[in-house]
Amino acid sequence: MEKTFVMLKSDGLQRGLLGNVLSRIESKGYSILALKVQNMTLEQLEKHYDGHQDKPYFPNLVEYLTSGPVVHMVIGGENVVAGMRKMSGATDPAKADLGTVRGDLAQDMTKNLIHTSDSLENAAREIALYLTPEEIIE
Ligand code: GDP
Ligand code: MG
Repeated sequence: MEKTFVMLKSDGLQRGLLGNVLSRIESKGYSILALKVQNMTLEQLEKHYDGHQDKPYFPNLVEYLTSGPVVHMVIGGENVVAGMRKMSGATDPAKADLGTVRGDLAQDMTKNLIHTSDSLENAAREIALYLTPEEIIE
């Protein structure tokens, strides 16, 4: 089964939106293979967002993602990498289509609620950053 990495960013838990996001994932029929509430470390963030460190928004992104716990998930399903990107919507919630997580539930380019891997390769890399193989259901 194809797997992807999904993260509910810190405002998701703060705003009580975990259930809403999980409901969309379950309704689509995807499998929840791991679910973990965690505080993110700066080291994890720098590895995860490798290539973004020099961007002007990076300090805000770090402040946001360390402002409270996030939820790390491994989600499985057919073409789930592309499917979860579609479900998340465009990076800028103001441009994201209605019906997507960002389009329905977010407003701010930094606080855009959800991360989903953009390729199979990045999915494997990101899963390994946050979860051990024992924590993932096969
Ligand atoms: P994603 O794959 O849709 O999450 O977008 P990117 O990989 O391009 O960027 C990673 C994250 O950095 C985004 O989800 C945003 O939280 C943040 N980000 C990216 N570009 C911008 C920007 O131009 N302004 C701000 N404020 N945040 C940004
Ligand atoms: Mg990205």
